[in-house]
Amino acid sequence: MKNFIVAIDGPAGSGKSTVAKILAKKYAMTYLDTGAMYRMCALYFIENEISIDKKKNIEENLPLINIDIEKDKFFLNGKDVSLEIRTPKVTGMVSYVAKIKEIREKMVELQRKISEGKDVILDGRDIGTVVFPNADLKIFLVASPEERAKRRMKDYEEKGIHEDYEKVLASILERDFIDSTRKEGPLKKASDAVEISTDGDTIDETVAKLGVFIGVAKEKKARREEEQGE
Ligand code: C5P
Repeated sequence: MKNFIVAIDGPAGSGKSTVAKILAKKYAMTYLDTGAMYRMCALYFIENEISIDKKKNIEENLPLINIDIEKDKFFLNGKDVSLEIRTPKVTGMVSYVAKIKEIREKMVELQRKISEGKDVILDGRDIGTVVFPNADLKIFLVASPEERAKRRMKDYEEKGIHEDYEKVLASILERDFIDSTRKEGPLKKASDAVEISTDGDTIDETVAKLGVFIGVAKEKKARREEEQGE
């Protein structure tokens, strides 16, 4: 079968990365966390104390941002930043960085390059609409803001980060707003995406639901390729 692409989009904390990681393992596919790529860009501007408000700063610095991903480790200019990119500081800044057209263009190009010739599950905001509009399966994962904030709190607790629930909820809502109202690659359900709510579901239940859709999409692709004699 030609490379099989699964796009999982949805708002912050809907469970995309957790289920995508499990599914990728289960179906022997590559997992690409595209949010981590925007987080690395945000970290670059924070660490170097460079304002993102000036176009000149973006143009000059974009070629200096080198991103490498090895399994679940993220490298920014050769340094492992897997932990730094998950801090509340980066989370608070990332949506502003992800609004910038030039940054999105570079990330989208890189996402397509990494996925070339592979079976890939990508999670993000614009995968089914911009990065892979012809993906074999598009999932739009949603959950209530309260449920998403609770999950983010749990993530932070596991990392030893202490944050206030109200603050986390506000940050999630702010990110949703910025992500869904931006001009370039906004958070949007593709017209041919399957919407699945993870509210009240365990991870296993969501994985099982998505697994059914993956099975159907694989069969459909295999049948189509057979008909076309590929
Ligand atoms: O998925 P995660 O919450 O780590 O994404 C962090 C941020 O990166 C999002 O809030 C969004 O601003 C940006 N993002 C994006 N497009 C993607 C993935 C993430 O704009 N495909």
